[in-house]
Amino acid sequence: MIVYKFGGASVRDADGIKNLAKIVSDEKEKLVIVVSAFGKTTNALEKVLKTWIAGDENYRELLENIYSYHLSVTDELFPSGDSAKSRIDISFAKLEEYLKKPDAESYDFEYDQIVSYGEIWSTIIVAAFLKSTGLKAEWVDIRGNLITDDRFRDADILWNESTARVKSVFNFRETDIYVTQGFIGSTIAGQTTTLGREGSDYTAALLANMLDAERVVVWKDVPGLLNADPKWIPDAIRLEEVSYREAVEMTFSGAKVIHPKTIKPLHNKNIPLHVKSFVFPVESGTIIKSETVFKHGLPVFVKKEDQIMVSILPKDFSFAMGENLSRIFNLFIRHGIKVNMVEASAISIDVCIDDERTRVESLIEDLKAEFTAAYNDNVEMLSIRHYTPEAISRITADREILLEQRTRNSVRFVVRKIASSLRSSQ
Ligand code: ASP
Ligand code: MG
Repeated sequence: MIVYKFGGASVRDADGIKNLAKIVSDEKEKLVIVVSAFGKTTNALEKVLKTWIAGDENYRELLENIYSYHLSVTDELFPSGDSAKSRIDISFAKLEEYLKKPDAESYDFEYDQIVSYGEIWSTIIVAAFLKSTGLKAEWVDIRGNLITDDRFRDADILWNESTARVKSVFNFRETDIYVTQGFIGSTIAGQTTTLGREGSDYTAALLANMLDAERVVVWKDVPGLLNADPKWIPDAIRLEEVSYREAVEMTFSGAKVIHPKTIKPLHNKNIPLHVKSFVFPVESGTIIKSETVFKHGLPVFVKKEDQIMVSILPKDFSFAMGENLSRIFNLFIRHGIKVNMVEASAISIDVCIDDERTRVESLIEDLKAEFTAAYNDNVEMLSIRHYTPEAISRITADREILLEQRTRNSVRFVVRKIASSLRSSQ
């Protein structure tokens, strides 16, 4: 059994879905197919949510546009009167009904109830289309099977509960293919949750782990994992094989090809992950697996943009490490801020994080009691695995280096791209 994952770009229009059906029909193994929302539907639903929460009636028009988009796809794929169309209509009506309620609950809760619809619609359409081409395919609502805690918008999987349910539902007794949603799950009480933006890769890895899949194939609009983003480094090269360890380092540093949480569930069961192009499905792509020699010896460049570097100094000049360290990082956790890089000296700590301004400002507010805290915004984090002097000068030549960290295999820089200001909390 194999798990396939198709992201938004692969299913952005009717042709994309026809292409998906072609790829699926060429596969002889049993399949679980995890699908994201069509194209940019998740972004569009986020706009609906924000508009609705602000009490702005324009949300109706935004939702209407999303409906028209889905309708244009179903019109091209199905004859009029097809049951897939009425299922989509019913589902949109359900969301419209939901949005009539007078008061919104917390943002994160409402986010999950509303934004999750994108994956429901895409999977209804994909499953129905596969069936219409003569394939034996069944639609599964992953909610009620992939069970999470109630940390809305960033839910954690409850493994025992989920594994039991997933195993019993995806049993292949009546069908060869299951089509289900990425990105979403539900609490044990049945409230919809989401796993974090771009989380469908993670869903694919979770299902593969729970079902002991042979492998996972993630179908992308790029030929595989490259040694850099070609928009940044035009002569980037596809990597044939990458170890789990390399892949984790790359995605954690900011490589966007797969979601950083994807590797762990696969590594734990030693399930290979194949990244392939849905445009050229016969090309070999990249295989991520356990033991590989990093054959190319190529430097791998990763850039994370929109970073903030926070510099923290205990007011009483006590050492930064030790007790202060755990107090400082507990504050990061409490504010829901993920740390991308840390550098500590005797009495100061520099931390590189994503630019989520409101969270950062309230963190600094809390730090102020005991620490002097200031931050540089508009910075980037650049990482090179398997670095060489040429590789370093290539990406740092026109940048001001604020921080540098080297190990035997990797080097990381926090750099300033454009003029940025040092703001002090003092
Ligand atoms: N549709 C969701 C998103 O765009 C999940 C995903 O694409 O993986 O974030
Ligand atoms: Mg997406």
